[in-house]
Amino acid sequence: MLRVARDKLSAGAAELRHLPRALRLAYEAAPRWTVGWLALLLLQGLLPLATVTLTGVFVDAIAGAVQTRAGLRRAIITAALIAAILVIGELLRSAATLVRTAQADLIQDHISSLIHRKSSTVDLAFYDSAEYYDDLHRARTEAAYRPIALLESCGSLLQNAVTLLAMAAVLAQFGVWLAGGLILSAIPAAYVYLSYAVKQHLWRMRTTAGERRSWYYDAQLTSGEAAPELRLFGLGPVFRERFLGIRKRLRDERLALTRKQAAGEFAAGASAFLVTGAAVAWIVWRAVRGYATLGDVAMFYQAFQQGLKLTRSVLENIRELYANTLFLGHLFRFLDLKSSIEAPAALVPAPARLTGGIRFRDVKFQYPGSARAVLSGFTLDVPAGRITAIVGPNGAGKTTLVKLLCRFYDPVAGGVELDGIDLREMSPEEIRRRVTVLFQEPVHYCAPACENIGYGNQEAGRAAIAEAAELAGADSVVRRLPNGYDAVLGRWFDEGTELSTGEWQRIALARAFLRDATIMLLDEPTSAMDPWAESDWLKRFRGLAEGKTTMLITHRLTTAMHADRICVVEGGRVAESGTHAELLALGGLYAAAWTAQMSFDQLPVSP
Ligand code: ADP
Repeated sequence: MLRVARDKLSAGAAELRHLPRALRLAYEAAPRWTVGWLALLLLQGLLPLATVTLTGVFVDAIAGAVQTRAGLRRAIITAALIAAILVIGELLRSAATLVRTAQADLIQDHISSLIHRKSSTVDLAFYDSAEYYDDLHRARTEAAYRPIALLESCGSLLQNAVTLLAMAAVLAQFGVWLAGGLILSAIPAAYVYLSYAVKQHLWRMRTTAGERRSWYYDAQLTSGEAAPELRLFGLGPVFRERFLGIRKRLRDERLALTRKQAAGEFAAGASAFLVTGAAVAWIVWRAVRGYATLGDVAMFYQAFQQGLKLTRSVLENIRELYANTLFLGHLFRFLDLKSSIEAPAALVPAPARLTGGIRFRDVKFQYPGSARAVLSGFTLDVPAGRITAIVGPNGAGKTTLVKLLCRFYDPVAGGVELDGIDLREMSPEEIRRRVTVLFQEPVHYCAPACENIGYGNQEAGRAAIAEAAELAGADSVVRRLPNGYDAVLGRWFDEGTELSTGEWQRIALARAFLRDATIMLLDEPTSAMDPWAESDWLKRFRGLAEGKTTMLITHRLTTAMHADRICVVEGGRVAESGTHAELLALGGLYAAAWTAQMSFDQLPVSP
């Protein structure tokens, strides 16, 4: 049992290594408030010493006042001083509340900004792992208040420790063993507190995934996107039941843990009672024998009672400090995540204009944590300045090509090259500046239309935005809105206007066009367009792609047929390639898909 306790405490001590970093973080976020906070703590810590000492003087003065006028004057002056100290104590408390509020807000915002900086730059691969979401979840839910709680526990610890030392000094006048006894009586409580801090922490670690699951159902029950299906398929009761089931399990487990902790704390508290009883009996006995004055008894009683209370508070503070540092370990682990997609030491500049083209060279790729290779021995040449369509069944790996080309991931084997230079020799930021992408599920930014398009190139002016919108067929969408380009899109904010999926797609297309890039990757650009919009867009598409190297991923063969070259991807490889006419003549996969699509669609196309 002793060994277990020692191991737990030493593990706890190891966790305290996060403490300096946490304090540094607080100082960085709010340097002046933090210094003020420290000064207030010290002052507040020392005040009780003055109160206790003056109480002793006061009681003796009262006893003397019965006999002399000088004694009465002393009693009145001491009472006035005690009152003044109480008022100062109140003032300090109010000042501390003000300082803590300001400090807490600054620290919270500072930490949020650190989390945001990290979450917006980590490798996309992290988003594929549940462990990352657990870390992110803990960082987001805990980080907002843990550092502040840590400061509070640090502050209280400091303040209580100062007062405790002062009280110990008062008690030492009566006998050094009294101060020692006070501390010893707290050891059982220390063990209970610290071991339950570890248990609570392990429990939180174990239940993060469950808690996230309950958040998931909460989001399904409350989000606008899920609302129509929720009603149509009657999923409300199903999700509610699952949510409540998880919450109940978590509640029960937490209650069981807290119940055990309460029992342990009660047992530890009983030992402290015994010590108080013995000490009070001792001083009363001394007073009866004439070794102590009434003032001594009052001072002793106050100092001992306070000392006992303070010892408990100090332990409580240590427990909180410890628990908060354990959780901050997660925050720091999250903030220290290392990206594997980094710029090499010897950088090769990314070509501003492609002359040769893009090459996927014998690429093998599987998503992190997945056993299946999405691409294997994949080789594809995309000539510079031309339009290459990539077609193929669902899950063939077409979108994965876009992700590899943006260097969101690195291939497991082989490489992706721009004009013969491997992407890994260039800076990822520079590659991304050369590329523009229309993602399959573009983000619907809840912002004015001009900003929504302008995100594609933050230096572009209004005229360039309008031109990109015109090219993407988004201009007609925007002009219909009440405030035109100033109309707020989406429903998140006041006066927002919701668009249809196809309209959002055109806005996203405009955003992609606005970027001054040499490589254009369009993932299903026409999937949400009606046939009229598609054919209108296709007429202009060649002009848009002028001078750029374009990869056009599409299911619609009526879109693909406009490309200079079409590649059919299947089973992680290029199965066929050629022009529309060549592939039809080949009579393979493409020809079969074309026949099937035509017999269904009968679209108004002009080859
Ligand atoms: P598509 O050809 O339809 O664009 P994708 O490139 O999106 O196909 O996906 C290819 C395969 O990779 C699919 O089987 C899909 O399940 C898998 N996949 C896609 N994204 C991930 C991911 N983030 N983690 C694991 N597997 C993924």
